[in-house]
Amino acid sequence: MVRNPLFKHIDEMVPWNAREHMLECVAWTPEAPDVMTFTFRAEHEHIWFRYLPGQYITLELPVGPEPLLRTYTISSSPSRPFTIAVTVKAQKDSIGTRWMFENLHPGMKIRAIGPLGDFSYVKHPADKYLFISAGSGITPMMAMTRDLGDRDPDTDIAFIHCARSPNDIIFRWELEYKARYMPFFNLGFIVSELERTQLWSGLKGFIDRAKIGLLVPDFLERQVFCCGPEPFMATVRESLISSSFDMENQYFEETFTPELPPPTVGVGDSGEAEKLFTIAFAEAGVRVEAEPGFTILQMARSAGVRIPAACESGICGTCRVKCRSGKVDMQHNGGILDDEMDDGYILACCSRPLSDVEVEA
Ligand SMILES: Cc1cc2nc3c(=O)[nH]c(=O)nc-3n(C[C@H](O)[C@H](O)[C@H](O)COP(=O)(O)OP(=O)(O)OC[C@H]3O[C@@H](n4cnc5c(N)ncnc54)[C@H](O)[C@@H]3O)c2cc1C
Repeated sequence: MVRNPLFKHIDEMVPWNAREHMLECVAWTPEAPDVMTFTFRAEHEHIWFRYLPGQYITLELPVGPEPLLRTYTISSSPSRPFTIAVTVKAQKDSIGTRWMFENLHPGMKIRAIGPLGDFSYVKHPADKYLFISAGSGITPMMAMTRDLGDRDPDTDIAFIHCARSPNDIIFRWELEYKARYMPFFNLGFIVSELERTQLWSGLKGFIDRAKIGLLVPDFLERQVFCCGPEPFMATVRESLISSSFDMENQYFEETFTPELPPPTVGVGDSGEAEKLFTIAFAEAGVRVEAEPGFTILQMARSAGVRIPAACESGICGTCRVKCRSGKVDMQHNGGILDDEMDDGYILACCSRPLSDVEVEA
């Protein structure tokens, strides 16, 4: 019997297991105004994608002489492991994402770093989930919903998504379809703008405690995952806290907009000038004297050593490097796992030396 050469059983393939990969774009799909899904396959056809739903990758976009690194959640599901997708929203003055809209097309190959991240139901299992998102913050929720829908369609999921207008709801039709075939999938949309003649059966306005209670009366019993712009997440947090929600054990959030690290200073807490330490970049064979208050990433750049970095605020994990010796003060924002720290990894963008250090870069 003749078999299509594209077809392979999963046991004839190997999982994605390096940290850097070449991806080939196979499709782009418009989702909403200024929102596009790009789907990729691995450069080698014998590779399948192994990641957790909710994790992200960083794409190296060849925008100029130096690539621009941008981090995006994988919006597809690991339950369908032959391709991966990212769903990206281009803001008005976007550089990286806009480049993808204008240049990334099927057949083109780009480098990706990852997968990384801890924002996944797999890490925080529960009987009932509440996914709350706004704008492009829907992407990790969609990955988790797709995955749960494939693995266990009986999972109890309440999903609240907020958008500017009905037309801006990303994945609207797929979510409505899931609400029909997943018996315990409860979907609620909230939009802030409606045209006068537009038909709309969802809620109108902005998210608040009353709307969460109305859409999901048993929200206190659920594991909550939240993603969206910071003011939106702040309102969700306040709503939950005012209902005595167990934030410590039942609330998880992902931020897309990095909080910039505190300004660097040249003096320590004691008011004393900081001691000068050396940083050795082992692979580059370069050693520099660290400027007080500067991060390992800043010192690498000043020494001409390239460490890939994207968010530069300890979220995305792209600048992870192994610290072979020495101590650092690392003020990260969740971009590195405890296991990785135990194995000696640090994030160069938010680590400042506390002694002489040697890193693998
Ligand atoms: C863990 C993680 C996951 C992410 N997942 C996604 C995803 O699934 N889909 C997606 O579209 N984006 C996602 N992002 C955000 C993405 O990495 C970029 O920050 C964002 O797309 C802006 O990049 P740009 O090249 O379009 O704009 P830039 O050229 O970097 O910036 C243009 C303007 O947009 C502003 N800006 C930068 N970031 C944001 C932002 N997140 N929201 C609003 N304005 C911003 C800047 O201040 C600037 O004024 C994620 C970020 C992180 C850290």
